[in-house]
Amino acid sequence: MLRALFISLAESRALRGIAEHSLGQKFSSRFVAGTQIGDVLQATRKVNLLGCSVSIDNLGENVTNADEARASAAIYHQLLDEIGAEKLNANISLKLTHMGLDVDQRLAHDQVSNLVAKAAAMNPRNFVRVDMEGSPYIPRTLELVRELHRVPQNQGCVGAVIQSYMHRSESDVEKLLADGIRIRLCKGAYKEPHEVAFQKKSEVDANYVKLMKILLKSGIYHGLATHDESIIHQAEAFATRENIARDSFEFQMLYGIRRDLQQRLVKDGWRMRVYIPFGTEWYPYLMRRLAERPANVFFIAKNLLRR
Ligand SMILES: Cc1cc2nc3c(=O)[nH]c(=O)nc-3n(C[C@H](O)[C@H](O)[C@H](O)COP(=O)(O)OP(=O)(O)OC[C@H]3O[C@@H](n4cnc5c(N)ncnc54)[C@H](O)[C@@H]3O)c2cc1C
Repeated sequence: MLRALFISLAESRALRGIAEHSLGQKFSSRFVAGTQIGDVLQATRKVNLLGCSVSIDNLGENVTNADEARASAAIYHQLLDEIGAEKLNANISLKLTHMGLDVDQRLAHDQVSNLVAKAAAMNPRNFVRVDMEGSPYIPRTLELVRELHRVPQNQGCVGAVIQSYMHRSESDVEKLLADGIRIRLCKGAYKEPHEVAFQKKSEVDANYVKLMKILLKSGIYHGLATHDESIIHQAEAFATRENIARDSFEFQMLYGIRRDLQQRLVKDGWRMRVYIPFGTEWYPYLMRRLAERPANVFFIAKNLLRR
């Protein structure tokens, strides 16, 4: 019930406006690196020093006009420039609705296409992960990733996300693997109806493990995005049993969540990428983290009380 409440709060435009303008950074700082590019670069340097790579997310979704969409793409161009100049171990993650998908599909396509071309031209080559949003966006998102990946120069520089709560995911995985596309596997963070998504945690978890095994056997470099310790243990055991090299895939976790587990995996020789969000539009992101674990309210309260 609390999950549903926080997901509804994530979708409330009115509360989002109030929160983002009045509560500010202190409210969100446990899970968000700050509001400026300098803040996220600073967090990236620190996380790199701990032995983890990074994916940087400029927070925002569902922009309502072309100027906002262009402004978000410009921030990602700047991020790629900074990553290249400082040689940070980082790539970028973006949402198609933040690139203008709801305004003009062509605009979103062109903006992402430019970013992927830029990432592919970097030395070393960089990578753009297209996050997955709610189910109405899945077909267009996967179609766009596959189209961009077909451009020969882009191969290996753009990847998709698959959510294990979706019934369709196994068939989507097959198509992406046939094209050689890198996948981030997660459970899924949106409220989806039973017609399209598993509702029980046990079913979502079982599908995650099933897809995880397919990905690990595929020979393509994928990301296993989860904080679920039991699933992580199963992935470690499967990779060890099947002689899958520790550097042939990566675990991924969110900034500020299970830092102990992140460090344990690094220490044991696994690859670990931390997803670091930053920016002023932190409200929906934070509400989804609360939906996953209402006890996070406690961490946030601690940040508010800290002087
Ligand atoms: C790198 C990364 C990228 C992601 N990208 C997407 C995306 O593109 N699209 C999408 O729909 N979803 C995305 N997600 C979110 C994902 O779908 C889940 O909602 C989220 O990761 C929680 O699921 P879980 O696998 O950690 O397992 P859960 O079953 O939710 O949690 C397992 C355990 O992990 C810990 N945990 C989980 N969440 C939290 C939290 N918020 N705070 C503290 N502890 C927690 C708890 O100990 C919990 O018992 C991403 C997640 C990660 C890690």
